[in-house]
Amino acid sequence: MVYHSTRDKNNKASFKDAVIKGLANDGGLFVPEYIEKLPQDFFNNIENMSVAEMATMVMKPYVGDEIPEDKLKAILEEVLSFDFPLVEVDENKFALELFHGPTLAFKDVGAGFLARCLGYFADDNKKVTVLVATSGDTGSAVANGFYGVKGTEVIILYPSGKVSASQEKQLTTYGGNITALEVNGTFDDCQAIVKEAFQDKDLNKHLNLSSANSINVARFIPQSLYYFIALAKFMKQNKDILVSVPSGNFGNILAGIYAKKMGLKIDKFVISNNVNNPVVEYLQSGEFKKRPSIHTVSNAMDIGNPSNFERLLDLYPNLDDLKEVVEGYTYSDKETLESIEDIYTRTSYLPDPHGAVAYLGLKEAMKNKDNAIGIFVETAHPSKFIETFTDKQKEKLEIPERLSVFMDKEKVSIKMNNDFISFKKFLLSIK
Ligand SMILES: *Cc1c(COP(=O)(O)O)cnc(C)c1O
Repeated sequence: MVYHSTRDKNNKASFKDAVIKGLANDGGLFVPEYIEKLPQDFFNNIENMSVAEMATMVMKPYVGDEIPEDKLKAILEEVLSFDFPLVEVDENKFALELFHGPTLAFKDVGAGFLARCLGYFADDNKKVTVLVATSGDTGSAVANGFYGVKGTEVIILYPSGKVSASQEKQLTTYGGNITALEVNGTFDDCQAIVKEAFQDKDLNKHLNLSSANSINVARFIPQSLYYFIALAKFMKQNKDILVSVPSGNFGNILAGIYAKKMGLKIDKFVISNNVNNPVVEYLQSGEFKKRPSIHTVSNAMDIGNPSNFERLLDLYPNLDDLKEVVEGYTYSDKETLESIEDIYTRTSYLPDPHGAVAYLGLKEAMKNKDNAIGIFVETAHPSKFIETFTDKQKEKLEIPERLSVFMDKEKVSIKMNNDFISFKKFLLSIK
């Protein structure tokens, strides 16, 4: 597969180059030159295949021969070694739980795949410095995926005071090849600093930089896999399948749209946003205006300038074509908290704040659709956001041990201002 930059079709890269570079040197994002429909045979047999076999067939076109097929299959087997259950919460409304991985958020799939690809491509003489900006869950998934991976040094930038307590513990307590920078600013500041680093000639001369954000193709493309795993059983349904995705940087929903392009039956995607909603506004007005992010209870979506918007535009340059595939809604914190309470009291299912936003979007989209199956994506385990729940809601919440072990560890972070110069100085000091 050949990849090219969203900003210049002639700026090309192999899979390996796209993975190692993360971001194209013109500031654009790499996209595959084409997304092909999988053969009908694949869909006929999908229920008889093992998860790793199925996943290998989905990923093979994007990886090509750059990782041998048996190695690719082994990587996918490790990365997908947990469940992706659909839980019926209301009649015809299912939660797709993507949080059963090691760090309890959907990002484990992409981060695990990326870490293993980079480990495979690692050149013994050339350390890779992996930069990652996080709004909460990416940092821990990346730390978990890369901890101890030879030849890699991971630098996590997170906005001080704007991630949940357990998220912060999960990303500041690894040590080893993982360093956490606590930035006095927002997630968008962290992301902008990381992006600037890729374009800085000086830094790139001294360091071999890569990105572990969903700007990296090895982070976001494998996220298509859980849609195949969970939704293939609806292939023969003559009902509409709607999927509501709580979106921040738009990597998760974009991977779902890729799955649809590859032939998976999904009729409509619902962008569910908190008040940070420049893409929903774009759907309404045709104008995209980035803006500063606002802190909310669904903090992993506090993004005012989602980087994967560029990839969405690359797929659908025409707004009307995009509207055929997606619709979008916005919800306040008040509505989110009411949604948690509503779902919990009616069904005793406790959604996390992001899932609660996705539920609201799904409900809206299904209003006039009697004959549809709705899926809302539960992107993280509720215990990661325990501070948003009332005592009553928390009563039956069990905190998984793989989260509680972090709470007793000591946070280690390096405080930094939200400017590129400070970051550059830091990077050059550790090279
Ligand atoms: C990262 C994250 C999101 C947003 O996903 P994107 O791929 O950035 O749109 C939503 N919910 C949770 C819990 C997350 O960690």
